[in-house]
Amino acid sequence: MNVAMFAPSEPAPPPADPLDYLADVLFQKMGSPGVYGRTALYEDVVERLAALITRHREVDTEVLRFPPVMNRTQLERSGYLKSFPNLLGCVCGLHGTESEIDAAVSCFDAGGDWTMSLSPADLVLSPAACYPVYPIAASRGPVPASGWCFDVAADCFRREPSRHLDRLQSFRMREYVCIGSPDHVSAFRERWMVLAQEIARDLGLTFRVDYASDPFFGRVGQMMAVSQKQQSLKFELLVPLRSEEQPTACMSFNYHRDHFGTAWGIADAAGEPAHTACVAFGMDRLAVAMFHTHGRDVARWPTAVRDLLGFPPNDR
Ligand code: AMP
Ligand code: ZN
Repeated sequence: MNVAMFAPSEPAPPPADPLDYLADVLFQKMGSPGVYGRTALYEDVVERLAALITRHREVDTEVLRFPPVMNRTQLERSGYLKSFPNLLGCVCGLHGTESEIDAAVSCFDAGGDWTMSLSPADLVLSPAACYPVYPIAASRGPVPASGWCFDVAADCFRREPSRHLDRLQSFRMREYVCIGSPDHVSAFRERWMVLAQEIARDLGLTFRVDYASDPFFGRVGQMMAVSQKQQSLKFELLVPLRSEEQPTACMSFNYHRDHFGTAWGIADAAGEPAHTACVAFGMDRLAVAMFHTHGRDVARWPTAVRDLLGFPPNDR
């Protein structure tokens, strides 16, 4: 008789996810859900997508690349703790005296919990690529009438462990950020919502763009999410990777109104708090979407898509 054998104490394996078949060619497990080593095949596609996004960069855009950590006080001032405290990762260290640190290590050696000795550093893991840009902009004085545009990127962290390959804890985000008058910033977002759809179409992705809200924390957060939707402050480009009902957001188009301008004291040319917007590309989600859409063998991807991404011609 052929029966599945599970000892009563052994949990049944989780049901397969529609993206699981990609795991072995794209990722190496690293012991924590949503944190993966990436294969050369995968990284090559991430880099080609990044180059494609670069080719669409508007003129007079300043390029800044940020590390995976940022100043904790800056993130606090941006209001992150009011909105997503549950997602934040904070850097901790052993900051005590030599004997206190020795005691923590001895505790570990004796099989105890050394982490009780940790205390927070002045750093957090960046939860989005654009946060560090607002204090930098604020330090430059008033925004000129032509506004400012930045091209930023960072490895981002959000504490949302999941075994789904499109929900990582550590992932790459690329963003174009616009700072200026309400009209200027709204026009920027409108332009990018059109352009981003052209890019997604050219990449051969199936998608739709829809109103969205951020996963604000708690009951107050639910009200913030409703208001964000009502005011059309966030749109997402959604790709049905797992299912039509629960598509995956691969890009987002965010209008923050004067939130960062007020928090950081950034004034526009009229002396009013500057408005800001950002278009965010989830590089890892886009890459996973490409493999799921076109298959694991890049040599067999459609010629137009290969050409767009700068792959050498195939002699198929
Ligand atoms: P958001 O600030 O939430 O709009 O995120 C910007 C983009 O980052 C999203 O559209 C996703 O493509 C990507 N992203 C957000 N969270 C994750 C995650 N947990 N794993 C992978 N990509 C993510
Ligand atoms: Zn942003």
